[in-house]
Amino acid sequence: MSAAQQTTEGQTHLLDKMQLNVGQYSIAGCKAQNEDAIGIRIPTGNLLTIKGVAAVIADGVSAAEAGREASHTCVSNFLSDYFSTPESWSAKQSAQQVLTALNRWLYSRGQGFHDNRKGYISTMSTVVFKSHTAHVFHVGDSRVYRLRAGVLEQLTQDHSSRVSNNHAYLSRAMGLDVRLDVDYQVAPLLPDDLYLQTTDGVHDALSLDTIKGILEDSSAMPPAKCQQLVEQALQNGSEDNLSCQLIHIESLPNANIDEVINRLTQLQFPPPLEPGMILDGYQIVRELHASSRSQVYLVQHTACNKYYCMKTPSVNFEDDPAYIERFVMESWIGSRVNSPYIVKVIDPNRAKSCLYYLTEYVQGMSLAQWIRENPKPPVGEVVFLIDQIAKGIRALHRRETLHQDIKPDNILIDNQGQAKIVDFGACYVAGIAEIATVLERDTALGTASYSAPEYTLGMKANYRADLFSLAVISYEMLTGKLPFGGKLEHCNTQRDFLSTTYTESHKLNPLVPIWIDGALKKGLRLNEERRHADVAEFVYELQHPNPRYLEYHQRPLMERDPLKAWKILCGILVISQIASLILILN
Ligand code: ADP
Ligand code: MG
Repeated sequence: MSAAQQTTEGQTHLLDKMQLNVGQYSIAGCKAQNEDAIGIRIPTGNLLTIKGVAAVIADGVSAAEAGREASHTCVSNFLSDYFSTPESWSAKQSAQQVLTALNRWLYSRGQGFHDNRKGYISTMSTVVFKSHTAHVFHVGDSRVYRLRAGVLEQLTQDHSSRVSNNHAYLSRAMGLDVRLDVDYQVAPLLPDDLYLQTTDGVHDALSLDTIKGILEDSSAMPPAKCQQLVEQALQNGSEDNLSCQLIHIESLPNANIDEVINRLTQLQFPPPLEPGMILDGYQIVRELHASSRSQVYLVQHTACNKYYCMKTPSVNFEDDPAYIERFVMESWIGSRVNSPYIVKVIDPNRAKSCLYYLTEYVQGMSLAQWIRENPKPPVGEVVFLIDQIAKGIRALHRRETLHQDIKPDNILIDNQGQAKIVDFGACYVAGIAEIATVLERDTALGTASYSAPEYTLGMKANYRADLFSLAVISYEMLTGKLPFGGKLEHCNTQRDFLSTTYTESHKLNPLVPIWIDGALKKGLRLNEERRHADVAEFVYELQHPNPRYLEYHQRPLMERDPLKAWKILCGILVISQIASLILILN
């Protein structure tokens, strides 16, 4: 990068809830060419959650002819390769693999010259900001500083030996040795942290106090601060290339699942809880539910008297890390979806002493109980409830999450008639599900009667699997019976599924319009490709008569169901043959 190609950038990036403000400045200074390189990559969507933000600074060794190429390769390759590593790799594993490969490549190129002075050598300091943690990878004498609450700290150690005032030799650098030894450290992030990356052209010419003074200047934004640091170093007589990159952490996202799991899986299981006992300031009022997998309690906050639900893991699984991990994930999944139709997970605002999570308390009944109490409900009421459940499912789908266990026990209806989905114990979150774990994940999820056939058949499920479950409960609400005569739970193979028959819902409840049955039948297609595109389309068809379903019923049986028509015809033929045979014999 030449002096004319200097960069200044300043952008505010909105990341879930993490906000960064970035500044960059890089000039050749007195030198003919700029052998420094800087770069930052802020991905969007899932990649941001899984990989974070990467900021790199590199200083090509000027004694090496290919220094400029080496530093630029370090920055550009890291910023592309790090984000291409498997989703399941941690920040550390991903960065170390990329750095090792990069080092090998630089080293092998340098070897062609049999002289390190011409090799591809560069310093490299990288910070990955992932959720609430900064991961620092460092080799060489570029630096990473952190300014927090008025304290400027140099996070990296220089890998160089100074032989005179003007000369220092790198003891460690990218491309210097076939073996790469990278310093790695993690630092928890706090809002308002300032991370500064510099090359020696900047930090060798500035005292710590000068750097601190410039960083603390509240009138300047990161790009202006970077420019000021470089100009000050130049004024102080720096004869090297000058580069710096400044990252201001304006705010942080919600805790990341990696961290949540790490933190929470360390927690003990709660002791057996009895009414009256107090746990972390929540008094147990009564048990609402207990199964082999979990207990749910009604609790009251002793300070504000508000009621909440406390879900605790069952002691049956105390030695089962996969279960614990899934339990921990449950609360995280709930906390990242914000919808009136999804039960709210409450952040207790204090450290937990054991493993549990809190949700809002939904006073009312489960949909299972509602079905029992409303054997012949008005169709409009059913559609109204299904619409709400669908909205909850869509809120999950928008966060790339499949619920995978939509069933009447996991839907609550409050006293105002509002439906809320609970229980994220079977959820699949795109990207997160692949995060590396030494633990076998629990795969026995979902509930057979409500699960889409693709789960049983071991096929990849998509959003239409939740649609299938929603169609099952719609059918059950309208008829009081499970579709396919309740046979789904006994199906294990494709053949089993094909042998089931669909009984039209209006045959069980004549109040169900034919077009509503048409929508149910489509939502319940065993082949997911033949279902509606999504839950919204299904609900639309429950609310708006689709003329195709009406037409269908007016068509002759031979057209609607040729197999059935032929069976009837054959039956008639056989009976008439038998009758004529009897007549002849008599
Ligand atoms: P499990 O994982 O054991 O299936 P769930 O989370 O589905 O546990 O909860 C089981 C039952 O507990 C629900 O069917 C409901 O009756 C009750 N329950 C769960 N959460 C709440 C809540 N937030 N408010 C009221 N009752 C709840
Ligand atoms: Mg449940």
